[in-house]
Parts: sequence; C-alpha cells; structure tokens
Amino acid sequence: MQVEAKTTGLKTENLKDHSLAALRERFARDGIARYHADQVAGWLYQRGVEDPRHMTDLSMDLREQLAGSWISSALEVAGHARSVDGTLKLLLRAHDGAVVEAVLIPEEQRTTLCVSTQVGCPLACSFCATGALGFTRNLSTAEIVDQLCRAREFLAPDQRISNVVFMGMGEPLLNLPAVSEAIRLLVDPKAFAMAPRRITVSTSGVVPKIRPLLELAPVNLAVSLHATTNAVRDELVPLNRRFPLEQLLGALRDEEQVNRRRPVFFEYTLIEGVNDTPGDARRLVGLLRGIPSKVNAIPMNAHPDSGYRAPKLEVMERFTAIVHEAGLRVTLRKNRGDDIDAACGQLAARGGRGESEEPGPRSLSGGPLEPGGRVVKSQG
Ligand code: SF4
Repeated sequence: MQVEAKTTGLKTENLKDHSLAALRERFARDGIARYHADQVAGWLYQRGVEDPRHMTDLSMDLREQLAGSWISSALEVAGHARSVDGTLKLLLRAHDGAVVEAVLIPEEQRTTLCVSTQVGCPLACSFCATGALGFTRNLSTAEIVDQLCRAREFLAPDQRISNVVFMGMGEPLLNLPAVSEAIRLLVDPKAFAMAPRRITVSTSGVVPKIRPLLELAPVNLAVSLHATTNAVRDELVPLNRRFPLEQLLGALRDEEQVNRRRPVFFEYTLIEGVNDTPGDARRLVGLLRGIPSKVNAIPMNAHPDSGYRAPKLEVMERFTAIVHEAGLRVTLRKNRGDDIDAACGQLAARGGRGESEEPGPRSLSGGPLEPGGRVVKSQG
C-alpha cells in the first residue's frame, strides 16, 4: 500500500497516534461527537480500513472532514523476506524515509509480531546489530501500531496476530509515552482487543521506567540480562554503568512484591568465551533468587558488526542444565529466520549498506523468546 506522504499543511495529525480515550477528547475539541472515535477505531484496527472516505457508517460530511484533516497510516512496506521456517521479516518505511523492522513469527498455536519502538537505538549494546546503527529518533504511536496493520496484510485469511512483543529495534522504555499509547490501543476492546498477557515489553534495564510500564497494564516484562557480573554487563549492555545489576534486580524484586504474580522473562544471549561458563550459570541462579523468573537462553547471532559468536551446543546445554537443575525455568531458544537476517537491526543494517533484501546465504539467528507466547527477540 502507499502511505500518504503528507505530514505538512493541514494534515499533520495521525488518527493512530491517539488511544481511544484521547481520540474521543480530540474529536470533542473539534466539535465531533465522541462516539465517532469508537467507530473510526473499529474501521482502523478491526476492519483494517484506513481511508476515512470508506468508513461508511460515518456521515459523508464527517468522512470528508476526517479525510481532509487527518493522516491515517504511518508506514509503508519497503521490503520483506520470508524464511523457510515461515518467519516473515518486514522492512517498513516512515514518511521521513526512516526504516524500521517488524518480524512476524507464525507457530502452531500462535502468531507473534515483534515490533520496533525506535529508529536505531541509543544504547549501543556491543553484540547488537541495531545498536551498531546508532540512534535516529523515537517512533510515534502511529508508527508502532502501523507495524501490526502492515503485518496483517501478509496473513492468511484464517490467521491473526495473537501476541505482540516489543523486542525489535530500540529500547521501548526510552520511548514510553508512545509505547504506552500503543499498548492502550492493543488492549482496547474497540481497537486491537488483545489480552495484556499476550503482550511482552523488553527492556535492557531502564530502571525508573519499569514501574510506570507495569502500572499501565499487566503486560509481560522481559529483561535483557546477558551477563552475571557488572564488569561483563558493562561491556555488553553499556546502560549497566548507569543502572547496575544490583539496582536492576532490586527494582524487579520490589515490583514483584508490589503488584505482580507473573514471572519476569530474562533474556540471556550466550556468547562464546564471554558469559557461557558453569560459573556464569551458577551466578545467574543466585542473582535471580527471589524473583519469579523464566530464563530464555539465546545463542549469539553472529553479524558483521560484532566479533562475538555462539558457544558450541554442548556448552550451551551445560549452561542451561545448571540453571534448570537449580530449579529455574529455562529454555534454550532455537533461532528463527536464520536465512533472512531475522535478528533485529540486521536487515535494516544490510539495507543501509545497500545490500539485497532477498534471503542471503549467511546463517543468522536471533530467536526471540517466549513470554506469553513464543517470541522473537533477537538480541535486543
Ligand atoms: S540490544 Fe536492544 S537495547 Fe541494546 S542496542 Fe540492541 S536494540 Fe538497543
């Protein structure tokens, strides 16, 4: 589909930038009855109709008024690649030319979409393809929810997106206002009507923003841990220098005591010679004591901008066995979309280098996790 390339002149606001409550208020200020916001949401999010002129239960005058003053899409499909395992990676372009990725992962019981929240990422984790891209800007709410709208166009008639994971490009908690408004739309019965337990937000540890997120809705929380000492985590996740392990895990313990019964999903990217020893596994068990946890161990997804690689399979199995024997739930993820650069940032990075979007010969991983649904995360 074509995106309206108008963000100037009178059409500067996007209908999808507002939660339903906010759109009702916005309409009221324009002299439009609040209930029309509910009708518009039904068209946009449930029926997939974006042109107000086709919203046939609105009066002709209102249709023209909305079409004349609002934008209703934010992203266009710039490219896509489908893995032999069914994983679909979408390259999506915004009005200003910025490109982000979304990954659709179909499985037997669920279809998960991994969405991006920023163009690039400012946190520069040393093992991450997105981090190597640098940071351009935050995505708007419309640009976040439009990833679902565009991805739905690739579904079979009997398929629907059952789970959403905020694990694509960017750190969601550094863009919390837009992410919050997107979550409100995801869970609103008159918009995407998803259960909060089918939504997972991943963070690298922006400690002050964890509580505001969990107060918004009972979504799943995933934490990109990746290391068991501050020295190693300082290297892998530089944000650790600001919010070290004790502070991050202490905040999670508090959150658990205050208002949560669901486990925290800990992502742990296994990197050969860096964080994969039996000692690391034992330290991990100790660190997570007192926090209802599930550990998702992910083989490092080698990419051209990092010198890291995955440990041998037996090393990874030894690591997860130690964690399992200590009584923690742990899964060694298999990688999805190996043949299509399915880890976040990889396809955009390749696009940025002028390489093809067609499936390439390199073996790439980036298997997401599974909170509430088998997920996707690359290393982000
Ligand atoms: S791992 Fe996540 S937080 Fe770190 S640079 Fe990549 S996208 Fe950003």
